Amino acid sequence: MAVIVQKFGGTSVANAEKIRGAASRAVEAKRKGYDVVVVVSARGHKTDELVDLAKEITRQPRPREMDMLLATGEQESVALMAMAVHELGEEAISLTGAQIGVLTDTTHTKARIVSISTERMQELLKAGNIVIAAGFQGVDAQMNITTLGRGGSDTTATALAAVLNAELCEIYTDVEGVFTTDPRLVKGARKVDRISYDEMLELASLGAGVMHSRSIEFAKKYGVQLRVRPAYSDGPGTLIAPESDEVTSVVTGVAFVRNEAMITLVGLPDQPGVMNTLFSSLSAEKIPVDMVVQNVAREGTANVTFTVAEDELTAALAVAKAAAAKLQAQDIVATTGLSKVSVVGHGMQTHTGVAARMFQVLAAHEINIRVVTTSEIKISVLIDRSRCDDAVLAAHSGFQLDKA
Ligand code: ASP
Ligand code: MG
Repeated sequence: MAVIVQKFGGTSVANAEKIRGAASRAVEAKRKGYDVVVVVSARGHKTDELVDLAKEITRQPRPREMDMLLATGEQESVALMAMAVHELGEEAISLTGAQIGVLTDTTHTKARIVSISTERMQELLKAGNIVIAAGFQGVDAQMNITTLGRGGSDTTATALAAVLNAELCEIYTDVEGVFTTDPRLVKGARKVDRISYDEMLELASLGAGVMHSRSIEFAKKYGVQLRVRPAYSDGPGTLIAPESDEVTSVVTGVAFVRNEAMITLVGLPDQPGVMNTLFSSLSAEKIPVDMVVQNVAREGTANVTFTVAEDELTAALAVAKAAAAKLQAQDIVATTGLSKVSVVGHGMQTHTGVAARMFQVLAAHEINIRVVTTSEIKISVLIDRSRCDDAVLAAHSGFQLDKA
């Protein structure tokens, strides 16, 4: 029988009534003839509450105990969900990550899935059960409970869909689907009917924030068809699938990261190994670097600029200062109060003039560009944070994303 995976996010299981609603979707799919696996997040703000509670006890909870704590949120919701299915007259059984056999590495609080055993799930499905799986959690080889990072239930869902060869993975959430940009900021933002894995990856990691980006990587790798859809209505949501042949628009969405900071090392020696010294030390400290620009050398020296999330600035600056001293840089400058705005779309691969259009739109609004980076399907600009909203609005209408 065809397998369907249905994932319900925290807001979609926040209270008894919503749990019942979610359970009835699962039951409906079961009665249509599917083998149904439900993946559930912790209820409402449960995870945040647990994080806060831990902080009241200690400023630095050990990651292993954080995982032990946070995993309880999902355990609560799977049990309740199974009960709700029973009430609707179907068989269901809830399983923790360990009981499913979600084996992860040992990186507590952001573990990666190593393997998933499907045997028990297959048996339970065969016996007519709806399987209710706890999202976000697994165990390492020593049976320590691990979690996959905030938002990780999406990844559990796509991973289960991949190993079970599911026909579809539905992600039920509290929005209509994936939007052309954040609808809280831009009134004219539209729901997108279909988006490719790569576009979604860019939008997710660029701050569109609808789904855990690792879940999209999984879906892409294993060809899982994902549908993000509202839990509160029958809206069709957005299909995340391989790139379709017909390009309907050049740009699919506008994403932004509001809080960015920039570090520039001035007057670095123009010789091999300089970038390596700097970026190896940043990576050794696990500081994620975003944009990187090295300019053309003049008189034997070069400047390097890179950006980090603003809350990483202190750590990044300490590392960069040490590297600057070692490399005998002439100066080091940090700039805060920046934002990154990006336009994303597969159409850029075949259409020219997208960058020109972006710069034109920003110029028309007198928005100064500090740094530009591009990939095959994306153009990002770094600008002053005070102009972030203006830039998003301008790009959104400049690329006519508000028009169907
Ligand atoms: N409950 C976890 C969180 O809030 C995982 C998830 O919801 O996907 O991050
Ligand atoms: Mg989520």
